[in-house]
Amino acid sequence: MQRLLMFTLLASSLLWTVCTGADWCYQSQFTCDHQCNAPEKWSHANGNCAGTRQSPINVVTRKTVKDERLTPFKFSNYQEIFRGTIKNNGHSVQVTVPDHRTISGGGLPDSYKAVQFHFHWGINGGPGSEHTIDGEQYPMEVHIVHMKSHYTDLKRALADEEGVAVLGFFYEASNSGNRKYDPLINALRSIKTPNANTTLVSGISLAQLIPSEQNMTNYYRYKGSLTTPDCSQAVIWTLFENPIPLSTDQLQAFAELKFHDGKPMVDTFRPVQPLNGRQVYRSGSAVILASAVLLVAAMATALGLSQPN
Ligand SMILES: [Zn+2]
Repeated sequence: MQRLLMFTLLASSLLWTVCTGADWCYQSQFTCDHQCNAPEKWSHANGNCAGTRQSPINVVTRKTVKDERLTPFKFSNYQEIFRGTIKNNGHSVQVTVPDHRTISGGGLPDSYKAVQFHFHWGINGGPGSEHTIDGEQYPMEVHIVHMKSHYTDLKRALADEEGVAVLGFFYEASNSGNRKYDPLINALRSIKTPNANTTLVSGISLAQLIPSEQNMTNYYRYKGSLTTPDCSQAVIWTLFENPIPLSTDQLQAFAELKFHDGKPMVDTFRPVQPLNGRQVYRSGSAVILASAVLLVAAMATALGLSQPN
């Protein structure tokens, strides 16, 4: 009896260590055998995660407010090819981006440089994005993480309320493969286990992964946080309306990666968080602007025609 009690005490203390440690996991990793800190317990790993400006969120488009200051972004050196390191970090696949790739404009208060990008996905092309638009969850989402250009490390930037700017893009399943993603997706085979990494030898540019500039003028803007612990509330979020196409095979390739417990790395998203009164803004639509110009031109012509000579 005493032994049993000792065992129970020991087991519960072990569990206590596991559950209160700095380790965190996604809901898909939580099992009876592995009781890690799933998203609703992330605040145990870091108090920030219980903050009032958390990410991701669901964007209700009819409640967004149009903001004329949300002009197109200016991308610098996004075309430049680099041989980045791609890594399975145990929670996602992340690519380190070298210095000098910056964004400005887009209503940002400063110039921001790209640091890394990583993905969030579901199960074999099923719902997997972190942000949702009118309740729709896309199969995958990429986050290109930037920090104010004058910072040298992300930690410093995360202590600044506007220190980090993340560009988020959604994916949609398409019938044909997106060849621009081949170098990245081929590299996934070499990094199946956590901490494995490899170099993208054939090189990659940020521009090749995202839509063309004219297809990036429609976006949503709000202030939030990192979507993983420590959940720092230092992020200016931009979510682009136009999704990036990938074939189902390409989307499925991400599920080949493994978590620490050897299980498939799937459903790597945090559930949406309460808005808590935050306003979500939307950029002025180029399409609407163009049609407005046409309308004015048409009206002028009509007026001109109707005037007596
Ligand atoms: Zn992310």
